[in-house]
Amino acid sequence: MRRLQPQLLIVLTSITVVIIAFIAALETIANEHLSAFRQHHALEIQQIDDAIAMSNNRTAAMRVALADQAAKDTAYEVITNPTAAYTTIDSSTCNISKMHDDPASTLVLVNKKHCLQPLTYAPDELVTVYGALLTSDAAKAFAQLYEAARAAGQPITVTSSYRSFQDQVVTYQYWVGVSGYDGADTYSARPGYSEHQTGLAVDLASPDGCVLSCFGATSQYTWLQANAATYGFIQRYHSGDEATTGYSAEEWHYRYVGREVALDMKDKGIDTLEEYWNLPGGYY
Ligand SMILES: [Zn+2]
Repeated sequence: MRRLQPQLLIVLTSITVVIIAFIAALETIANEHLSAFRQHHALEIQQIDDAIAMSNNRTAAMRVALADQAAKDTAYEVITNPTAAYTTIDSSTCNISKMHDDPASTLVLVNKKHCLQPLTYAPDELVTVYGALLTSDAAKAFAQLYEAARAAGQPITVTSSYRSFQDQVVTYQYWVGVSGYDGADTYSARPGYSEHQTGLAVDLASPDGCVLSCFGATSQYTWLQANAATYGFIQRYHSGDEATTGYSAEEWHYRYVGREVALDMKDKGIDTLEEYWNLPGGYY
């Protein structure tokens, strides 16, 4: 190949420099025009941006409404045929946030808008401690809570802990028999929607037999209010939070969430997991 003459090189370089300068000038002019156009049409552009934002919001709201309706339909299917529900239902439809949805995590959220996935979930390992059947983490913490309560002269007893999907079918059907679907739904979870199915929940009473709503007036209850969080437990359903949790107050129902979360909720004065994680609750 022939080598380029030095003169030719100079000419080519000059042409290149001129082209680059020309492009830069064009770009500046284009930018000036664009910014003038934007200024001139600022109002129209703003209106178009607003219309796009409104349409996006509407789409998002529609998605939420569709997810909510799908969750309601699924929850309804559970009560129409609970024993077969898990064979026909895709439980991802009834867990609408897709957050805090790992049933094996102590940070799982279970409420009327967050079913267990799968609906028939059962923990791999359950341990019995002082009459409570719980996951090993929850059982370890519960043993400490139980012993601390006893040492403080406030002994507690266990009335219920882990319940399987099938147990909950029986429990829920029983309460439906007592007060119908609407009544049962205010205090009994549908199968696949109970915290008791996670192995993280325990119902407590006083040894003298003060169970359920009677428990709220006991000294044991007062002691738990002050000390449960230290052991990683929270009272899950408070009076005044019915619209948030979807349940009437249950002074006897404690949920293991771990010490860190329980103490943080107490520090911040937050009663419910729904508010703490900013996730939806309330009715099905
Ligand atoms: Zn309970």
